[in-house]
Amino acid sequence: MSRATIRFALFALAAALVPFGARAAPCPGNPDALGTERVLAVDAGSTPRVGRKQFPGTLPLHPKELVLTFDDGPWPTTTPKILAALKHECVLATFFLVGRNVAAHPEIARRELAEGHSIGHHSYSHPLLNRMAQAKAEAEIDRGIAEDELALYGKRRSVPTTPFFRFPGFASSPALLDRLQARHIVVFGADVWASDWNRMTPAQELQLILGRIDRLGSGIVLLHDTKSQTAAMLPDFLRELKRRGYRIVHVVAAANSR
Ligand SMILES: [Zn+2]
Repeated sequence: MSRATIRFALFALAAALVPFGARAAPCPGNPDALGTERVLAVDAGSTPRVGRKQFPGTLPLHPKELVLTFDDGPWPTTTPKILAALKHECVLATFFLVGRNVAAHPEIARRELAEGHSIGHHSYSHPLLNRMAQAKAEAEIDRGIAEDELALYGKRRSVPTTPFFRFPGFASSPALLDRLQARHIVVFGADVWASDWNRMTPAQELQLILGRIDRLGSGIVLLHDTKSQTAAMLPDFLRELKRRGYRIVHVVAAANSR
């Protein structure tokens, strides 16, 4: 087992030993932090595709549990602000990286990993993969994974250390979904999003996402760490989640998924 695998296994074990509802570990410098309630190991064998916006099912979450995900980065003007806000609240999230951006800013991707976040993959250059020939689409996926792996672990390879993938624009095809399932890569959709690809003020985005989360009650939340309005609203968003009684679940790769 690699050191990372052992670390995740110990982390998952520790999380499993904490009874449901137990308070998260104290957050240095912020006694009122939202925190991360528990770790959920996700395995392509039992949950190959998650997120009800795209697929029939989602992650096994309790009411008021949320998984935070950020797409399209790393981006130098916004991702560091996102990371600072998450750290202040001791919240662990998952970043779905665009390989081209990782190649330009590998140090930010490494910071995400070093701060304990999970790293998923989101292609090399963010094309709509369902509009490409199968072989070309797979090459795009693999080039993205390889670029991310090189920056994070020093080795260019198409077998992802964390086998999580999200399709750009959710543009999947049945053939590509089958291919990823055969490779034991979990495909993430989402249960709720902030529509932060549309221009709006941080306050408008905050109200929009909170309203949608309140209606849904739990799920995988999609945000973009490339968007300045998202970076601006994130501190208020995390504080408001705490005030409304939501709890954060950190998804990691199951130790037996590789
Ligand atoms: Zn994207």
